[in-house]
Amino acid sequence: MRLENKVTLITGSASGIGKEIAIIYAREGAKVAIADLNLKAAQATALEIDPSGKTAIAVAMNVTDEAQVDRGIAQVVEAFGKLDVLVSNAGIQIVDPLVDFEFSKWKKLLSIHLDGAFLTTRAALRQMYKQGSGSVIYMGSVHSKEASKLKAPYVTAKHGLIGLCKVVAKEGAEHGVRANVICPGFVRTPLVEKQIPEQAKDLGISEQEVIDDVMLKDTVDHEFTTVEDVAEAAVFFASFGSNALTGQSIIVSHGWFME
Ligand code: NAD
Repeated sequence: MRLENKVTLITGSASGIGKEIAIIYAREGAKVAIADLNLKAAQATALEIDPSGKTAIAVAMNVTDEAQVDRGIAQVVEAFGKLDVLVSNAGIQIVDPLVDFEFSKWKKLLSIHLDGAFLTTRAALRQMYKQGSGSVIYMGSVHSKEASKLKAPYVTAKHGLIGLCKVVAKEGAEHGVRANVICPGFVRTPLVEKQIPEQAKDLGISEQEVIDDVMLKDTVDHEFTTVEDVAEAAVFFASFGSNALTGQSIIVSHGWFME
């Protein structure tokens, strides 16, 4: 098992990519905290992973709320005694042309992705520095490297996470803390299913054309990335044993974007 007794907190893990990371981390021996805005769904995921409640717990957390984040991290440390891995994964998508983008929606998206990453990182580092070890993983995107129409705040936020990761890598090194970013291509989670009809409407094309000509156009094999693919990358970063791998980003996208 690659994550034996590692204590991990994954934000936005009641659904989609975060949920799969929690499932695979638990299978690899980790203790997992399912932190999500949707507490009911988080509780259901925790129960699904471990009905006894010994190795999986649900944590109520809006990642944009400073007090809830600090309380949530404290709850995990209280339950499991430490915190080895933070996966900052919670996120939303809102698509619209830039000229029509409502300021309130811009702020909401940036807040969940960037304030959320900052607050959870800060709370996690306070614990990890005491321990002298830890790993922080950000859920970036191909949109951390590349742009698409209709996604101004998302592309902005995902590029921003790369910058935050590099600062954490530099400041965290002397405390044994590493930071890295995973950059997935399109994965068919609720976040993506919702935007297929929205993009079709905004671009004036069919839903199949959104899939073929927007989402998968530049992949090497016309395939969606899967939650399992992304979770495997999350295991790789969490289980890597030294500061040799820090401040990096890895793209899991069927070759949609190549560096
Ligand atoms: P999802 O909608 O399936 O899951 C997102 C989860 O985040 C939900 O459980 C939701 O309740 C939670 N959440 C939303 N706002 C929150 C908040 N303020 N506080 C705490 N939890 C909150 O989406 P997903 O596709 O699994 O996305 C997860 C991450 O992966 C996001 O950061 C997303 O940007 C990123 N990502 C997704 C794709 C993709 O194609 N699906 C590609 C690249 C990156």
